[in-house]
Amino acid sequence: MSDDTTIRVSEIFGPTIQGEGALIGMPTVFVRTGGCDYRCSWCDSMHAVDSAYRETWNPMSAEDVMAEVEQLSGGAPLMVTLSGGNPAIQPFGPLIAMGHARGYRFALETQGSVARNWFADLDMLVLSPKPPSSDMQVDWDIFEDCMRVGQGAETVLKIVIFDEADYQWARDVAARYPDLPVYLQPGNHTPPPPEDDTAVVDQEGVDARMRWLVDRVMDDKWYGARVLPQLHVMLWGNKRGV
Ligand code: SF4
Repeated sequence: MSDDTTIRVSEIFGPTIQGEGALIGMPTVFVRTGGCDYRCSWCDSMHAVDSAYRETWNPMSAEDVMAEVEQLSGGAPLMVTLSGGNPAIQPFGPLIAMGHARGYRFALETQGSVARNWFADLDMLVLSPKPPSSDMQVDWDIFEDCMRVGQGAETVLKIVIFDEADYQWARDVAARYPDLPVYLQPGNHTPPPPEDDTAVVDQEGVDARMRWLVDRVMDDKWYGARVLPQLHVMLWGNKRGV
């Protein structure tokens, strides 16, 4: 099966809690797609990015994805989180319509490098532009296209911070979009290699970065920002499917 309605799925799992950002703690089923137009230096999901793992990605119809979400959730309509990779490169419109008709809600997490009309149908659009430490370059015209087409959705910014340069960059981004809630998150400098989700996280190092980030935000009196950890990393390290 391969056409423009096929969703390339790396994994579907849950229900579990959303581990980060505006919906932290909320029960959700994750649909993680395969393929990404970025190659962030610290990507923690390379199994869903690198085409070397393409054979592990399942081409699925919206009906099949919906059936698996319903089976996992026991039919209870909850939040479905579309993640990746970059889920924006997949055709999610039909799945969102199908899920909404059954009471499910949808949040998309994307870097904002591809704008799709179906963003308007989302319940939450999490735009996560990648800071300098990623070695990626944001195309702000496309990023703003994402905001424009996603106007029907609640839109938030989530920015991963590794160092002072990332922090200053995040301040600039937040100043550019003052109407968007902004969530800051300390980066994990010990992401798993794609084939090994048992790789140990330097949690103390991540915690130290979080403490530095909190101090930085308070020193600047940046009271509009919210600083959150990656809860799933604190609880389960690099383990997948949780
Ligand atoms: S955008 Fe996300 S999934 Fe893609 S390479 Fe960067 S961190 Fe990984």
